[in-house]
Amino acid sequence: MPSQDHSRLRRVIVAGAAGASLIAGMALVASTQSASAAEPAGLERVTVRESLLATYTWYRQVQDGHPVLNSFYVERKDRKTGAVTVEDGRAKITGLVKPLAAVAKNTALATAAKKAPGATTASELVVVPGATAKLAWSVNTTSNKGTVRTLVDASSGAVLESKSLVQKVTGTGTVFEGSNPVTNLQDETLTDQNDTNYAKLANAYKTVPLTNLNGDNTLRGKFAYDANPSPTKGTNNVWKFNRSQGGFEETTAYHAINSAQEYIQSLGFTNVNNEAQDFTTVGLADDNSFYDPGADKITFGTGGVDDAEDREVIWHELGHAIQDAEVPGFGGSAEAGSMGEGFGDYWGMTMALPISKNTAKTPAACLMDWDSTAYTTTVPHCIRRLDTTKKYPGDMQGEVHADGEIWSHALFDFHNAVGRDLANKIILEATFGYAPNTTFKAAATKTVATAQTLGGATAAAAAKKAFTDRGILP
Ligand SMILES: [Zn+2]
Repeated sequence: MPSQDHSRLRRVIVAGAAGASLIAGMALVASTQSASAAEPAGLERVTVRESLLATYTWYRQVQDGHPVLNSFYVERKDRKTGAVTVEDGRAKITGLVKPLAAVAKNTALATAAKKAPGATTASELVVVPGATAKLAWSVNTTSNKGTVRTLVDASSGAVLESKSLVQKVTGTGTVFEGSNPVTNLQDETLTDQNDTNYAKLANAYKTVPLTNLNGDNTLRGKFAYDANPSPTKGTNNVWKFNRSQGGFEETTAYHAINSAQEYIQSLGFTNVNNEAQDFTTVGLADDNSFYDPGADKITFGTGGVDDAEDREVIWHELGHAIQDAEVPGFGGSAEAGSMGEGFGDYWGMTMALPISKNTAKTPAACLMDWDSTAYTTTVPHCIRRLDTTKKYPGDMQGEVHADGEIWSHALFDFHNAVGRDLANKIILEATFGYAPNTTFKAAATKTVATAQTLGGATAAAAAKKAFTDRGILP
């Protein structure tokens, strides 16, 4: 696949009215100072846009007569001063074999239609920049899901990329910084106080981008879907609420679920719960949350601390959705059910780790620090831990959450041994191969084998040790 952020010859040139001043400039485009000059070489004018303050002339880069994908070049002429500014987003073209379209247009259209069914709405030959530039057929096909652009290599006929052009909107919203206020403020004395927004919490909030929104002022998007009966509307896709308001939990849930899917995809997985995950933050007054595989929906309760105020709760529940997405009907045995709870706790920990304070006061192994202030008395407040001394089989109690602590501890040790991204890649990959009614031992064996494949002998040894230390493997 061609990289979308290929190296560009990007420079900004500012030509003042009274004498040119070049900022990191290049002689090549210095001629653009002479205002409405002829089009610079290698560029084709696309359009002219008038704003209140300036005139923008847009060009596209052309190589051997073909437009260069994702390149741009724009001249901004200030209305008042006449000063011209250029932003040069031309791509560096290297290694392009003299363009020769060996693949016929009709062949490319057929290939694109196979990849992305729909009516062909546009097609042209383009240059795709990259380490080695390529000539490709760019074909747009449009269906009721919008337009998809497919790039077909004009030499080999291979599909280089197939990408939806439907735009997602980035909004903003207020959430608690870190995974929750207890870890962020390093304060174990915080309590729910009946869902009020009290003074001590003033510094716990943070404004974050909300990516992948559909753009209709709801917290519904590519990876998360606010399924509340009356979803809280944003104002121009901005959700600024405090914890006493329902919109706050919806914002936090959307953000947490969306960011987790973005992380999963950054590891290379395109089919691990890759969908708009339904969630609801209303309708359950209990201090409990659950994932319902029948409805493929997460419900967050509002008893005690509203569960969706604590991102570690959200990620725990999402962990169940992830497992169910990878293995339909996962959890069909007591041990598989315990692994479900253990993985949920692990997923809460690993998602929180980069943004949360892992200190002696609020260790990463302590889960749901904020939510659990409502029902625990010991400090630190944790619903469960990922570092208990429990071992298999002697410490099994026949209760999935309690027994899950054995599984989560093994995953936690493995994570600490090989690092976050590799551990998650291996664990998510291994999960695909678990039987719905698997046993600790069978799943551990599969995980060790996957570690060997994806991480080599060192990772496999670390996985083996983690499971052996918990009595799961000999
Ligand atoms: Zn659970």
